Amino acid sequence: MWRAGSMSAELGVGFALRAVNERVQQAVARRPRDLPAIQPRLVAVSKTKPVEMVIEAYCHGQRTFGENYVQELLEKASNPKILSSCPEIKWHFIGHLQKQNVNKLMGKHGLLPSETVSMVEHINAKCPSLEFVGLMTIGSFGHDLSQGPNPDFQVLLSLREELCKKLSVPPEQVELSMGMSMDFQHAIEVGSTNVRVGSTIFGERDYSKKPPLDKSAADLKTPVEVAQAH
Ligand SMILES: *Cc1c(COP(=O)(O)O)cnc(C)c1O
Repeated sequence: MWRAGSMSAELGVGFALRAVNERVQQAVARRPRDLPAIQPRLVAVSKTKPVEMVIEAYCHGQRTFGENYVQELLEKASNPKILSSCPEIKWHFIGHLQKQNVNKLMGKHGLLPSETVSMVEHINAKCPSLEFVGLMTIGSFGHDLSQGPNPDFQVLLSLREELCKKLSVPPEQVELSMGMSMDFQHAIEVGSTNVRVGSTIFGERDYSKKPPLDKSAADLKTPVEVAQAH
């Protein structure tokens, strides 16, 4: 057993990325057949990591990257080196949206399971510039898998079921973003279609060199994930 990140620190981003992709495929192979057979998207979470590491991961085939601070996302997405070396890069924002009315919409700290269906109905009916594509959660840390699947992931699955019934859409059309460095394989096994992996690819984050970041982001339970429109 190694600590998350030690591998990438020693052997480079390309090696860590390949290992994560292999683990993703192994987890896909273990999925029960009754789950939608969707190839999960790997979002490489590059928050706090330098531009050079993003470019290195891109050169090893990674295309989708995630950031959870708006400012850092904007800086990286407009960085001249990234713009010239990574023409096909796609960014996912995985934190809090700070704009006042979006904040209102998202209630700031994500949604309670009980509010989810009506929020999606509201987005579909009243927000023409938003396209609802799926649900996201962060699974409780340190969940003991010998006690069964992580209940947070099960909640997201049953919410999708409820949503699909209510809106008459097939489950293949509703993404489930769940799974991070510590639990992405388990999340895929139970049906995740989008995993967000940071430290296992880029090494552990060192927050000591940065000014204190928006603390709320560290505490959040259910932030939003916003993908760049294709
Ligand atoms: C930082 C972050 C991740 C990645 O976490 P790791 O444990 O480094 O894989 C995933 N999702 C969100 C919302 C995050 O803020």
